[in-house]
Amino acid sequence: ILDIQNLQKTYNSGDRHLTVLQGINFSLQAGDVCAIVGPSGSGKTTLLGLCAGLDRASSGSVILNGIKLDNLSEDERAQVRNQYVGFIFQNFQLIPTLTALENVMVPMELRGEKNVQKQALELLGRVGLAERHDHYPTQLSGGEQQRVSLARAFSNKPAILFADEPTGNLDEETGERVEKLLFDLNRESGTTLVLVTHDLELAEKTDRIIRIKGGTLVSDQVTSSVINSDYNE
Ligand code: ATP
Repeated sequence: ILDIQNLQKTYNSGDRHLTVLQGINFSLQAGDVCAIVGPSGSGKTTLLGLCAGLDRASSGSVILNGIKLDNLSEDERAQVRNQYVGFIFQNFQLIPTLTALENVMVPMELRGEKNVQKQALELLGRVGLAERHDHYPTQLSGGEQQRVSLARAFSNKPAILFADEPTGNLDEETGERVEKLLFDLNRESGTTLVLVTHDLELAEKTDRIIRIKGGTLVSDQVTSSVINSDYNE
């Protein structure tokens, strides 16, 4: 579902050039659950943004669900995202002037779906926030905003969901709840998950850990949880 070939990214500002990804290669099959780990500043968020089509690489290729993103326009990439991609940002990025319910409805409205209010309420129910549907982001705690952002990402029925530190800002209990929602989505709908995380316990629960350091992929391992479960079968 995702094929990354020799991906490079350089940020240019004025005459300063900062190369943050220097030739990354990996690919994921539909239904995979993968963690991307690495030190702060190693390029994980940048990599996630390129994979999800939020930004464009300097060179190399991103092929998402068979579609090559490299030469697509901004609008064309947005269409691909609306169709296949869910994204959970580190800082939630809810729209402040919309209620929780309206935030969840946006991707479905963009897809031209019917009965979006009912579906959005159901999704908020899944993340335990049905009763807070008419609250604005500022009236919700960080954990609650994170769960709204999860419901919004689910509302796209994404083939692939990218999450940047999905449990990073949450207390242990809320973090576990969010984690369970993500893994349930993978099990029930076969959604491919790509999680950037500093939480090694979470990373160990995935099928595969990709380590990035200084913009280079340093290892790509199948986790022991998969090895153990294969062994047990
Ligand atoms: P963290 O774990 O701290 O979130 P990260 O591994 O996700 O870090 P990135 O956010 O991808 O790292 O950043 C990699 C490098 O690219 C950093 O040095 C950062 O300052 C730089 N960078 C990120 N975005 C931009 C941008 N839009 N313009 C210029 N430099 C940027």
